[in-house]
Amino acid sequence: MATIIDGRALAREVQKQVKEEIEGLRRRWGLVPGLGVVLVGDDPASHLYVRNKEKACKEVGIRSQEHLLSAAVPEKDLLSLIHSLNRDKEIHGILVQLPLPPHIQAEKILQAVSPHKDIDGFHPVNQGLLLLGGEGFKPCTPMGIMRLLDSVGCDPKGKNAVVVGRSNIVGKPVALMLLARHATVTICHSRTVSLRDEVGRADIVVAAIGKPAMIRGEWIKPGAAVIDVGVNRAPTGKLVGDVEFETAKERAAYITPVPGGVGPMTICMLLFNTLKAAKESLQRET
Ligand code: NDP
Repeated sequence: MATIIDGRALAREVQKQVKEEIEGLRRRWGLVPGLGVVLVGDDPASHLYVRNKEKACKEVGIRSQEHLLSAAVPEKDLLSLIHSLNRDKEIHGILVQLPLPPHIQAEKILQAVSPHKDIDGFHPVNQGLLLLGGEGFKPCTPMGIMRLLDSVGCDPKGKNAVVVGRSNIVGKPVALMLLARHATVTICHSRTVSLRDEVGRADIVVAAIGKPAMIRGEWIKPGAAVIDVGVNRAPTGKLVGDVEFETAKERAAYITPVPGGVGPMTICMLLFNTLKAAKESLQRET
């Protein structure tokens, strides 16, 4: 029977440390970290995510500045907003909530964000630094996943890690982070021939697919650590992950629940990255 990794408790702990450091910045330098939040359109899920992120900012002492734009906003207007946030000395991090409407090229917008303010770690410069092992901003969900593994003493070194999903925001970056920590990494996707066999060899499974209970409990290697990134709405209205939780927890040594696993850590890492951006802005000035 697995130990359930409590993402909410870990997030509270990290959030406390972030809050203390922000207090210190304010006392010593009079600096209040600022986050520019850009939300386009009226997708209810995006509005909920942004509300949760802003609430967390407030709790730790980050000043968030919200920019709500209509779904019909021209791309050039969104770009000029990003440019003005890039220039704003009181804004240290910029968050562009995805998805953007189809007439806007998301890549163009994300590339317009200054790499120094790219607290989501989506800019090609930061993605490149991650690949090269440099010190850029790393995407929040993968960072949270690594913290969750560390919290239960699961050292990836020498382990077989299987990441299911190859998105730029979760699958690929978490695979690189596991590789940097010396795991032997396999990345699976929709064309993988035998997902069951790949997962069956894994000491660490990261499921980032977006399909309810796609990873069957019986596939899990006994003693594995299972990190479930998926957030899916079941027909009952309940939130469920990508892993068949009830059966997987019988075989795994560690498993994250949905909700209450990866989600809270993602928000927490956003706060961490905003603090990092504020600290680095001070270093650039001195
Ligand atoms: P994407 O849709 O961008 O990527 C999904 C990946 O799953 C793709 O690489 C796809 O393969 C792969 N896939 C789809 N079907 C299969 C299959 N049958 N077998 C194997 N692989 C498959 O999703 P994201 O990475 O953005 O998100 C994944 C999930 O994580 C979603 O549920 C999302 O809501 C959740 N999420 C949760 C976060 C949190 O904080 N808790 C943060 C971010 C995401 P291919 O590339 O071949 O199409």
